[in-house]
Amino acid sequence: MDNLLADADLCVKCGLCLPHCPTYQKTGDENESPRGRIALIQAFAGGQLEPSTKLTDHIDNCLLCHACERACPAVVPYGRLIDNFRSRTYSKHKSSMALSLVKKLADGSISQAAIRPSLRFYQHSGWQKTARWLKLPKLLQLQPLERLLPPLTSPAIELAASYPATSKSVKGNVGLFTGCLGALLDQQTITAAISVLTAVGYNVHLPSTQTCCGALAQHDGDQLSAGQLMATNSNAFAIDDLTAIISLASGCGSQLQAYKDPQFADKVLDISDFLIRHADLSERLKPLPISIRLHTPCSLKNIMRSDAAVARLLAKIPDLTIRPLASTQACCGSAGSYMLEHPKMASLLLDDVLDSALTEPADYLISSNIGCALHIGAGLRERGTNLTVLHPVVLIARQLISAEDGTEK
Ligand code: SF4
Ligand code: SF4
Repeated sequence: MDNLLADADLCVKCGLCLPHCPTYQKTGDENESPRGRIALIQAFAGGQLEPSTKLTDHIDNCLLCHACERACPAVVPYGRLIDNFRSRTYSKHKSSMALSLVKKLADGSISQAAIRPSLRFYQHSGWQKTARWLKLPKLLQLQPLERLLPPLTSPAIELAASYPATSKSVKGNVGLFTGCLGALLDQQTITAAISVLTAVGYNVHLPSTQTCCGALAQHDGDQLSAGQLMATNSNAFAIDDLTAIISLASGCGSQLQAYKDPQFADKVLDISDFLIRHADLSERLKPLPISIRLHTPCSLKNIMRSDAAVARLLAKIPDLTIRPLASTQACCGSAGSYMLEHPKMASLLLDDVLDSALTEPADYLISSNIGCALHIGAGLRERGTNLTVLHPVVLIARQLISAEDGTEK
């Protein structure tokens, strides 16, 4: 309680965070603002407010987008405050059906290798259409999860434990954190990352014992499970001479950078940031005369603070027109498990992002976080558009001039 109170007491109630808070913007309710939530936690930690469903609901409605933390002149550690509060009020039985399933997939209790063929069969056999027509996902309380399923066009590839550099000179070794949902639903980003990293001179290691980053458990208040997952990853990536541990999803990357093990945390970089710092891509990319909309995930902007690297990386592709979404763009509502637990608010926030994305025609929408990509991708399909969402490294891999072309530097 002392820690909670000490962090909450840092807030000077100036309200400068309020215009940045998506839940306050949508509700106009002080209890749904950062300042209001901090005051509630302060009263709880000080013993003036009893724990109640109403209290935990206001805290749980927070997206943990960290927009308030970025705007706060008093540097209130808002994310830590919310995580600590949730761990004090954590109840094992409160997760929805959809979230429980995702947690089991994330920590390996349900085998991803077994589930992916079933998901492909569900999509390609016509079962998905029938199930949706019968409203089965809704009846089974799985609709917020089922809608996220992207088209699984190709069978899963079994990934090796390591891939050697394919360039003439080897620059070093990197670890690749694949992420639990990425490995299941977005293998094209993983294979693209491997092909780019090996082409620019790095041996890429994918330890088979790596697991979920722990963000789902931690933000749910389950510190014990989060700690176990963090320890597993720290051990998995305890490999000599790693220049970096590369994340392909900013939601995971922001969690990995917060690990208490500095040997691990200090090495974590988002892949775009890594490529800007450690790879020479000049004259290695073919021109691409198309237009893209660039989405910036909150975790990349407000926590990892490496959003500028994505635009700089994509700008290396000749002839590519990059149109970022509006600078006022707030959280898309995915926010880890938020889209599963709070589908109404998640949908309201998604609408704003989709409206912004669809103001101008584009060939792709680019996002650096798997959660946002799935949520936005589902929204685009629901609106009947064929705009697809890609990770930036997929475009880079497609445009990379291969060593066989004889143009490798
Ligand atoms: S959280 Fe920061 S910005 Fe918001 S009211 Fe408190 S001190 Fe002001
Ligand atoms: S983390 Fe985001 S949703 Fe939560 S209070 Fe801060 S700005 Fe609002």
